[in-house]
Amino acid sequence: MPLKVATWARKKSPWIMHVPCGGCNGCDIEIVAALTPYYDLERFGVLQKGSPRHADILLVTGPVTTQIQESLKRIYDLTPNPKMIVAIGNCAITGEIFAEGYTFAGPLDRIIPVDAYVPGCPPKPEAILDGIVKLLQKNSEKGI
Ligand code: SF4
Repeated sequence: MPLKVATWARKKSPWIMHVPCGGCNGCDIEIVAALTPYYDLERFGVLQKGSPRHADILLVTGPVTTQIQESLKRIYDLTPNPKMIVAIGNCAITGEIFAEGYTFAGPLDRIIPVDAYVPGCPPKPEAILDGIVKLLQKNSEKGI
């Protein structure tokens, strides 16, 4: 029974944590924009949290640098199951302009498993909303 309640709550009000991993901040600004009243990501019950222990979904931006990769793995391990990871922006998906750099450790799915990809440089807030909603719908069909 408690598991059913947790699944229901996750569907109705998924909690997110934003994890910037060395990008130019363009994607980070778009995530902030998605949370403002104009785009109102909260209308889907989404709440931003500051701790991975409270998060259902990690929104990861940036190419993942060598300096941040161990912290990212720790954040991933601290996030309770069933965690969902969304790669936001081209840097997280491919490395984009940072892929040839000496600090590049990514892309993201080489470091941790990724459940959804939102391409763009940066992706618009509408695309970020769309990615999160589609991920929740997909998981809802699977009963997660
Ligand atoms: S995808 Fe583009 S906007 Fe986002 S962090 Fe990389 S360079 Fe910046």
